[in-house]
Amino acid sequence: MAEIKRGILYLVATPIGNLADFSARAAEVLKSADVIACEDTRHSRPLLEHYGISRPLMALHEHNEDVVAARLVERLSQGETIALVSDAGTPLISDPGFPLVRLARDAGIQVAPIPGPCALVAALCASGLPSVRFAFEGFPPRKSAARRALFESLKEESRTLIFYESAHRVEETLKDLEAVIPAERRLVIARELTKRYETIVSTTIGEAPALLEREPDMRRGEFVLLLEGAPPTLEAEDLSPEQARVLRRLLEECSVKTAVSLAVKITGARRERVYRAALRMAQDDKRKDVET
Ligand code: SAM
Repeated sequence: MAEIKRGILYLVATPIGNLADFSARAAEVLKSADVIACEDTRHSRPLLEHYGISRPLMALHEHNEDVVAARLVERLSQGETIALVSDAGTPLISDPGFPLVRLARDAGIQVAPIPGPCALVAALCASGLPSVRFAFEGFPPRKSAARRALFESLKEESRTLIFYESAHRVEETLKDLEAVIPAERRLVIARELTKRYETIVSTTIGEAPALLEREPDMRRGEFVLLLEGAPPTLEAEDLSPEQARVLRRLLEECSVKTAVSLAVKITGARRERVYRAALRMAQDDKRKDVET
């Protein structure tokens, strides 16, 4: 049996649907914890009983985390072993725990992850979308206007984008994505991962709302939405999206020479790269003027 050290904060991943996805190490650590901090004791107790784990539980959720975190760090300082679990998956991933981990690390306490299920990782691996570079955005805002504003700000993002979404909002969120993101962009809808009705569907932004309309089952359960990144623009070969944005804005106001000088100063990008991108942008604009 692996040695369980004292005075350590363990972050223990639990299943996201399939109870068999629970590691031997996770069980060992939870059995030896002085206290298990969990989001909802009513939710975690049956799960822990299933694995034969009977340890004191303490609720740590978004409404009490600051107060409870301070108490737990006090106990850790006295040498107790504390494990943190969430309702499902990996703690801190769209789940409570960040204040506790920050406080514990600042107090010099060892924080040890016990890795395991995580919906975003499971969905990404199976999605068929590029996984070398990706960005996890958590849950999009609840209000449509804020959601659209977020999608607008991510329109040019070239990394695969990952969102969590609930059954209540998935249809509205897909409609907002369709309003902002080009229709041909690939989208993968991963629902009920590791569960009986696990479904991972590859579609496009333009087709997704109709797909959910047609198939009521596709509106039920828990969702991960994965959006293919934007194709790289020519200037992105030379500049980051933020550098390109700054340059484009400067070109609207100044000559190419001035815009390049200012962009170099503001962004720190290399002059020849900025210059190349500026020429391409200026050419594109001229072409667009001729076309219209
Ligand atoms: N900490 C968890 C993790 O590691 O993935 C996520 C917790 S967050 C409160 C819950 C959200 O994760 C759900 O609304 C859904 O978007 C996603 N999720 C969790 N389990 C899932 C599953 N089995 N299939 C698809 N999505 C899931």
